[in-house]
Amino acid sequence: MAEEFIPYSRQEIGEKDIAAVEELLRSNFLTQGPAGPAFEKAFAERHGVAHAVAVSNATAALHLGCRALGVGPGSRVWTSPNSFVASANCALYLGASVDFVDIDPVSRNMSIPALAAKLEAADRSGTLPTVVIPVDFSGLPCDLADLRSLADRYNFKILEDASHATGASYKGAPIGAAYADATVFSFHAVKIVTTAEGGMITTPNEALAEKLRLLRSHGVTRDENLMAHPSEGGWYYEQVALGWNYRLTDIQSALGLSQLQRVDTWRDLRARHADRYDRLLDSGPFKLPIREADKVSAWHLYAVELTAEANIGRAELFAAMREANIGVNVHYMPIHCQPYYADLGFARQDFPNAVRYYEQALSIPLFPAMTEAEQDRVVETMMALAI
Ligand SMILES: *Cc1c(COP(=O)(O)O)cnc(C)c1O
Repeated sequence: MAEEFIPYSRQEIGEKDIAAVEELLRSNFLTQGPAGPAFEKAFAERHGVAHAVAVSNATAALHLGCRALGVGPGSRVWTSPNSFVASANCALYLGASVDFVDIDPVSRNMSIPALAAKLEAADRSGTLPTVVIPVDFSGLPCDLADLRSLADRYNFKILEDASHATGASYKGAPIGAAYADATVFSFHAVKIVTTAEGGMITTPNEALAEKLRLLRSHGVTRDENLMAHPSEGGWYYEQVALGWNYRLTDIQSALGLSQLQRVDTWRDLRARHADRYDRLLDSGPFKLPIREADKVSAWHLYAVELTAEANIGRAELFAAMREANIGVNVHYMPIHCQPYYADLGFARQDFPNAVRYYEQALSIPLFPAMTEAEQDRVVETMMALAI
């Protein structure tokens, strides 16, 4: 008889979450009521940042973030190839061009030396980026202090994609608090905190937050300070920019606010599972995720790479694990290798570290409620196949 399926990620929905959504459904506002601002305020407080703007998903957050930070036709945006396609697509939506900076093979995040070298060359040729989108892959924060000093030196904005990193911290401060001009979080169901679909942008910059709020809702305002003309009455609003409908509903905000209460508990559980994986997999033919002294990972993913000693290829290991009802996954096929990006002119070997990582990578199950027995089954299955 086949053993029960273990997913690579699973949402944690508790009775309190269900009660919060039920209460919201019985209230007067399903959207644009008080739950949205309450979620935003709690998120901002938790992250030690002045402003948090809730949106319909992280893809919308990246789109709005790029737009509000000045990306438009002719702009250049750089990101990491080891990410979900949304990290790059956001620039193309605005008529900008995208380029990538290869990863560090140990952290799997954007390589700072590679970025510095690319900026130096771009400075010489007058092709500096408007925005750089570093990605906190797997929940491990990027080298934000280094990114900040490069941003100040070369005059670009940092839009941090922290879709994996809700609950992570860097040099003692929560991700989303400082260093980046704006930080994006995802609340998709596979992520750490969920609203089914949803996202958030944090920023310390009030003018930027105001712009994000305006663009989130059609570019329409009821704030007289933003209007071109005096109000003509209580019904009056003005469209002063071209925005979108990227609002999060109050149903989702109520769920998000309830979920947010457990973010530290979940991070600690994920970290404990990750530590245990480290111990149990240490003797196997795997390259394991690193720890860095000044960074606390949110552990969205636990990704290993097969080493040359392994007795099995990655594709075979993936298939055999799935056959054993274990929901492994691969994060990510590098964005520049996607056919759409290849058609834009990128070649596979343009970013060799991202490709080398991808070819051996496997994300194994990790979620707060995972049991030791489930973890043992993952490890034993994997070891038996790979040794
Ligand atoms: C999930 C994810 C996104 C997109 O998030 P959505 O909320 O699904 O739009 C963007 N970037 C990264 C790195 C992600 O993992």
